[in-house]
Amino acid sequence: MKPQDPLNKLDGVGPGRESALAGLGLYTVEDLLFHMPTRYEDRRRAVPIADLVPDESAVVFGTVRSLSVRRAAGRNLHIATFEVEDDFSAVSVVLFGGFRSFYSLKDGVRIALCGRPDVKGASLEFQSPDYALLKRGSSEMPPGFDRILPIYPTVKGLPRRWLANLIFSCVTSPDLLPEDPIPEDILARRGLVSLRDALRGVHAPDVPEDVRRSMARLAYGELYEIQKKIFAARAARERTSALQLAHGADMAERFERSLPFELTESQRRAIGEICRDMAGCRPMSRLLHGDVGSGKTAAALSAAAMCAGAGAQTAILVPTTVLSAQFFSEASKYLAPVGIACSELRGGMGARERKDLLLRLADGKIDVIVGTHAMLEDDVVFKSLGLVVIDEQHRFGVRQRERIAGRSEGVHVLMMSATPIPRTLCMALYGDVDTSEIRGGPSCRKPVVTKVLSDNYVGDLYKFIASRVQAGCGCYWVCPLIGGDCGQECDDRSSVLSRASDIEKNIPGVKVERMYGSMKPDEKRSVMERFSSGESGILVSTTVIEVGVDVERAGVMVIESASSFGLSQLHQLRGRVGRGSRAGVCILLDGARNIKNSPRLRIMTDTCDGFLIAEEDLRLRGAGDVAGTRQHGLLNLRFADFPRDSALLEAAREDAGAQAAPGTAAGRS
Ligand code: ADP
Ligand code: MG
Repeated sequence: MKPQDPLNKLDGVGPGRESALAGLGLYTVEDLLFHMPTRYEDRRRAVPIADLVPDESAVVFGTVRSLSVRRAAGRNLHIATFEVEDDFSAVSVVLFGGFRSFYSLKDGVRIALCGRPDVKGASLEFQSPDYALLKRGSSEMPPGFDRILPIYPTVKGLPRRWLANLIFSCVTSPDLLPEDPIPEDILARRGLVSLRDALRGVHAPDVPEDVRRSMARLAYGELYEIQKKIFAARAARERTSALQLAHGADMAERFERSLPFELTESQRRAIGEICRDMAGCRPMSRLLHGDVGSGKTAAALSAAAMCAGAGAQTAILVPTTVLSAQFFSEASKYLAPVGIACSELRGGMGARERKDLLLRLADGKIDVIVGTHAMLEDDVVFKSLGLVVIDEQHRFGVRQRERIAGRSEGVHVLMMSATPIPRTLCMALYGDVDTSEIRGGPSCRKPVVTKVLSDNYVGDLYKFIASRVQAGCGCYWVCPLIGGDCGQECDDRSSVLSRASDIEKNIPGVKVERMYGSMKPDEKRSVMERFSSGESGILVSTTVIEVGVDVERAGVMVIESASSFGLSQLHQLRGRVGRGSRAGVCILLDGARNIKNSPRLRIMTDTCDGFLIAEEDLRLRGAGDVAGTRQHGLLNLRFADFPRDSALLEAAREDAGAQAAPGTAAGRS
């Protein structure tokens, strides 16, 4: 799948549009081809005007009446208002445009409209619908109205129709379509369409069935690629030898004895499994699952201690700067007493400081280094890398994960995740990894008391929070990402800012902090420090606090629009409170409707078992819509969804296995 020419193909779109496209992560023709619609508008059949339903998109035909065009005051904008009537009823229409745009619009001409009508007084009105004039005496759909129209997620500065046209022109130029990476005989055997047909099918479907067939093909392709990599990685691992770290075991024991707490039974078992792997001659590939607060950090540090004891270095990769600071402070606190040198590589470091750090790293003067993906840069060189720990590994994107894999060949790898992944899925998607689990948390932890509350009670909630903050408790207030369609780049401040000022108005005298993804890492750090020290009482934030952050005095968490989050994500979030001796409280706020009946949120109030919640999450999400956004963050899959695609996964596993080892039944074993 080579894009024709990644850099040049999109020029000509203009710098403004280009940066807007970049905001969506679209840089190449191939990116455009794989930019999936969120929904479709079926324009193939017109309805009588009398059948229009407010807010539901529809196509109608009719005759223009009572047309009036006027100029908007002081601007070069014209507004046309008119009625469109069919045999039985009429609907109002408002259009905006330059004067010329309405040139051919006249009373008595026939017109087709497509849009979502709003209620306007006693009748309905289309504002800026798509429209086309009909040929006299013809009842055929005009061009653009005779198809199923894909609707794409977009951002400011990128008109929907322009983006749709751009994608359409890519998908209808045969020489821009990528080669099919899947052998023809597999496609034929599985009854799957070719990649080219699949891309045409999602972007320019003739019938709804095209979309379903195409999505199945894209999901299969995605799973097949993953399986191929898994088989390749297994083969490579069987050929590779790793540093044997057995003689570091003493150091791990010294480390464990120096901890201010007793390791739990479960932690001990996991550490035992990890250390046994690292003493072997093949590289470890192990996933450590453990609920939020179960103490995975201590397990990882124990492995790092073993590695250091054997004279090798450990790299600890974490997904966010906030988490990096946290991990680093814990690592230095516990590793320094046993003489292990620990450093942090920060993204925003000064050039001198960075260079100095890298020198010490290359000299082997640093045993353990903690950092974000800044560590994947080419100039980060180790003297003797023995172990890579990847914390919250599911939070890394596909490309980052590939980089990690590329940089950790022949090295022991320990992945950690607080989002438990159902075992079957885990095996299939991570393939060859061994798994360890830490069940239950350190004994001091109490389950978080969780309540669902209707938005109508925000006033009472403010009073509750005020009293808790008075009592010295920290409160997180989590806001949803607005416009989650557009990925990380979109503006994530608005919900945070408006909620924070509302809280300030209603709870005077309390310092409220704001935090969101687009803030600079340093700013985030100081916000966290002020919150952690008690200087501020309430932290209003997006989910940037989600992973691993540990503020001892945080006792209350409010999650707004709770239904828009995945269950596992809610569970992870609420794990951030009640880390002291007192039980934490989590309030799930939701729209005024049907809260009592929401079985999804009910699970959150009923159990604190992350594994159970993960299974439920998977079961409840069901098949989902064809191309809905996958916000649950469980796995970085773009097309495949579970349990819907379980059969495709099996097929992909079998086919990739057979390709990897022709003539054997590898895939079927
Ligand atoms: P997570 O699994 O979510 O990463 P952490 O490793 O951050 O959890 O552990 C949460 C807190 O529990 C940390 O402050 C850590 O020091 C503490 N902790 C870890 N293990 C134990 C233990 N066996 N007994 C008491 N406290 C522990
Ligand atoms: Mg952690």
